Amino acid sequence: MSDYIVEPKSRKELRDLANMLRKFLGLENELRIPIVELLDIFVIIFDDFNYEIVCDNALPKTVHAETDIRSGNIFIKESVFERACDGKGRDRMTIAHEIGHYFMLCICGFKLQRAFNIKEVPPYKDPEWQAKCSAGEFMAARHLTEGMSPAEIARYCGISREAALYQFKHRN
Ligand SMILES: [Zn+2]
Repeated sequence: MSDYIVEPKSRKELRDLANMLRKFLGLENELRIPIVELLDIFVIIFDDFNYEIVCDNALPKTVHAETDIRSGNIFIKESVFERACDGKGRDRMTIAHEIGHYFMLCICGFKLQRAFNIKEVPPYKDPEWQAKCSAGEFMAARHLTEGMSPAEIARYCGISREAALYQFKHRN
């Protein structure tokens, strides 16, 4: 995905988008997003959305999950899916990240182009940064985590301590 650039979006725009999705799903006041259950809900709501649990060696070692934006298919490693079902923050965030790719590119239609000859893609144009940012904003809603410590954000939102600290530092 990093061979591509996408139309620029700020954290503020991605936060608004994450909140719009929360509202659409009736989850605007839900501290802990039921991300695994959302996969099945997305299958019902969005015609072109699908997800597949694949065996761990079907994807490269460093890849936890992958989204094919042409088909709207999300592939999730079996081990990642199982840990997400068990409530592990990092794996829940992996699913949110892929849903972020799908939502921004397939539903919202952010324009994507190949980054030929572009040596450095600024974060706000990088689809990976955008997916990371929108997943964080979606999983730890700013309006619900106001005044919380990183440890509380991790606990109540069901995300990793690392991700909670990141959200804590990027609240503005
Ligand atoms: Zn990604």
